[in-house]
Order: sequence, then structure tokens, then C-alpha cells
Amino acid sequence: MLFRDINPVLADPAAFRVLTDALASGVAPGTEVLVAVEARGFLLGAAMAYAMGLGLVCVRKPGKLPAVEHRVDYALEYGTATLELPATVVRAGQRVAIVDDVLATGGTVTATKQLVEHCGARVTGVHVVFEIAALAARDRLGVPVHALLTD
Ligand code: AMP
Repeated sequence: MLFRDINPVLADPAAFRVLTDALASGVAPGTEVLVAVEARGFLLGAAMAYAMGLGLVCVRKPGKLPAVEHRVDYALEYGTATLELPATVVRAGQRVAIVDDVLATGGTVTATKQLVEHCGARVTGVHVVFEIAALAARDRLGVPVHALLTD
């Protein structure tokens, strides 16, 4: 599968700003915090959070966090992966938006959604640059998906 690379856009200040603003414009009113997925989601989520005046929560691969709130294992095409939510940063009742660079099978975003919902928070939407539509992840997620580019 073609690797969808956001690096050229990040390296171009005007393009990075346009990308950030386009992603931010899709976030539902009332969203209180952005939850970004390691690693490229961090870059987009941090820029969006700054532009929007929101907080940022970084969902991490295993073994990086000093204190873990919750952990979810999920299936990859070959093998499994794990994501961890930092302790105490997502509160019950909060409205959160999930940010990543690419939505492919949806496994990563589904695991992130489970982490958020474990805390009693609610996902208002999923925000990505690229969506691989043939994998139909949006049909399984049960929350609105905002993709800037779909193929
Ligand atoms: P998935 O869990 O299958 O939806 O995959 C999404 C995660 O894998 C994201 O965090 C992406 O960074 C990465 N990813 C999956 N497919 C691609 C792709 N074609 N190009 C770049 N990154 C990808």
C-alpha cells in the first residue's frame, strides 16, 4: 500500500498552516480536548490544539509513559499492537476529538476510542489527513470521520 507521507507538508510553513486550519475546521463545537496518536498524530494534534486553544492528550505506544490510565491491545494485519493513555488527563464527561495522519483499517482509531471511552469521555469525531476509503473504517467506527483526502 502507498505510504501517505505528510512530511513535505509539515516542511512547508504555508501548507502546514493550511493543513492545520483545515483539520481544525472540522472539529465539532464543544469539543474540549484533542487526543492524538503516536507519532504523526502528535504533530498535527499539537498544531491544532495550539490554534484552537484546546488541550492535547498524547496516546502512546507501550513503555513510554510513567503512569498509564488504561491500555488497549488491537490486531494489525500481521500481529498485534498496544496503545496506552496517560493517567489522569482525560475526565469523565469530556468531549474529545481524535487526531491522526491516516485512517486505514481503523484499528488504531478504534483502540484510541476505547481508551477515551474507558474514562467516561465521549468522542465527537475523528480527524485525519488521509482516509483509505476501500478499507471502510468509517462504517465501523460509529463516530463522524473528517478526512481531508479520501481515496
Ligand atoms: P490503521 O490502524 O490500519 O487505521 O492504521 C492507521 C495508523 O497506521 C496511523 O497511525 C498511520 O500513521 C499508519 N498508517 C496506516 N496506513 C498508512 C499509510 N498508507 N501511510 C502512512 N501511514 C499509515
